Amino acid sequence: MKGIVFVISGPSGAGKTSILKVVLEANSDLDFSVSYTTRKSRPTEVDGKDYIFVTQDEFRRLREEEEFLEWAKVHGNHYGTSRTQVRKSVDSGRDILLDVDIQGAMSVMRELTDAVYIFVAPPSYGELVKRLEARGTENTESLKVRLEDAKWELEQVKHFQYLVVNDNLNHSVNQLEAIITAARLRVDRIVKEKGERFLFEEKTT
Ligand code: 5GP
Repeated sequence: MKGIVFVISGPSGAGKTSILKVVLEANSDLDFSVSYTTRKSRPTEVDGKDYIFVTQDEFRRLREEEEFLEWAKVHGNHYGTSRTQVRKSVDSGRDILLDVDIQGAMSVMRELTDAVYIFVAPPSYGELVKRLEARGTENTESLKVRLEDAKWELEQVKHFQYLVVNDNLNHSVNQLEAIITAARLRVDRIVKEKGERFLFEEKTT
C-alpha cells in the first residue's frame, strides 16, 4: 500500500509545530517532511531536522530543478516542500506529515487530490495574538506581518477536510492521531490500492 500524505496547515502561532512534534515522537511509523527554507535558523532548531536551511540562490536552484512539490513566500521568507522526500515515503508505504502554510496547502490540494488536509486553528484570533507575542520569536515588524496574514488564513478553513482547534496540546494530539487512524481505515483508499475483492485475499491488513 502506498503511504498517505497528511497536510497540516494553519496560521503561524496556532500550534502546528508543537502538535506535530508530540505526534511524531509517539509514532515512529510516521515520517515528517523537512522543508527547505531561506529563513534564519532559531537557536533551538537543528539543520536537517526542523528545516533544511538554504541560501536564496540554493532555493532558486531547487525551484528551477522542480524539486518542490510546492513552495511559498511566507511572512517574507521562502519555504518549500521536497518532492523527493514525499515521494520516497509514499512509495515505501510510509505516511508522511507536511507542516505548511495555507498557500502551500492549497497548492498541494491542486496536485495531490488524495492527501488528507487538516487545519489547525487557534481558539480565537485574540488568542493567536497573545501566543505569537508570548512566543517571542518574532520582532515587531515580523509579528505585525504574521498577524495581518492570519486574518486571510483563518478564512481559508473552508477548503480543508478536518479541523483541530488547538486549545489544549493533549487534546489536539489525540485529535490529530484520530484523524490519521480514520484516514488509514478508509475503504475507498484500500479498494483503490488493492481492488474490490481485497477481503477475499489471504491477508486483509
Ligand atoms: P516558521 O518560520 O514559524 O517555522 O514557519 C512559518 C510558516 O511557514 C508556518 O506556517 C509553517 O507551517 C510554514 N511552512 C513551513 N514549511 C513550509 C513549506 O515547506 N511550505 C510552505 N508553503 N510553508 C511552510
